[in-house]
Amino acid sequence: MASQGSMVIAMRLRNQLQSVYKMDPLRNEEEVKVKIKDLNEHIVCYLCAGYFIDATTITECLHTFCKSCIVKYLQTSKYCPMCNIKIHETQPLLNLKLDRVMQDIVYKLVPSLQENEDKRIREFYQSRGLDRVVQPTNEDSVAETMGLPYSTFDHSKAHYYRYDERVSLCLEKQSSGKEKNKHILQQKYLRCSVRAEVRHLRSVLCHRLKAAPTQVQILFNNESLPDHMTMKQLWLSQWYGKQAPLILNYSVKEKRR
Ligand SMILES: [Zn+2]
Ligand SMILES: [Zn+2]
Repeated sequence: MASQGSMVIAMRLRNQLQSVYKMDPLRNEEEVKVKIKDLNEHIVCYLCAGYFIDATTITECLHTFCKSCIVKYLQTSKYCPMCNIKIHETQPLLNLKLDRVMQDIVYKLVPSLQENEDKRIREFYQSRGLDRVVQPTNEDSVAETMGLPYSTFDHSKAHYYRYDERVSLCLEKQSSGKEKNKHILQQKYLRCSVRAEVRHLRSVLCHRLKAAPTQVQILFNNESLPDHMTMKQLWLSQWYGKQAPLILNYSVKEKRR
């Protein structure tokens, strides 16, 4: 049932995709952009308004959400947020299935959107005569050494974190008296995958500040953030509707001698 449902959705989308991506030299870029916009409703999560992450489909009605979004939603409901169908008498999670086909479709669509976003950012900095704050090569090496979590999803190399949605962060040091000028980041702006967790940021900070992991804390509004929290969770719960970058603080404890 679940795989059949995915097949139906996949076929429908494949037809739409074919019309978008058909190698047609006369098709101009503007037209393609509009078509991708039309497709958004099929690959955007109703609960978080972002592109699906770990796309998960309800087998009863075939509505799809991010895994984390729908699992969280079903903590307090047994009904589909979109069509209100009862998902299961007692355990709605039983009727959720990871939807690899749908996730593949998102990954195929998002790279081009990502390129547009990159272009927009490049132009923004150029128009102000500024250098771009983060080099793409940095992002790559950071995430590659961190090994972003793909525990629930078997991605081929072609997918990778780099097609994820990105979040822009600004890491400000929590100022404290005499240590004010120590451990200041050369580069406080960072763009990373929405799947990056607090622990990844901590590792990056330790590396850049040459500090031990136990010394470094990441804070939001004076509160220390848990290691397993993703940037997506943080953004949705604390920064939704606000302008990028999301501003985080960090503190560095001095080593005891
Ligand atoms: Zn979602
Ligand atoms: Zn539904």
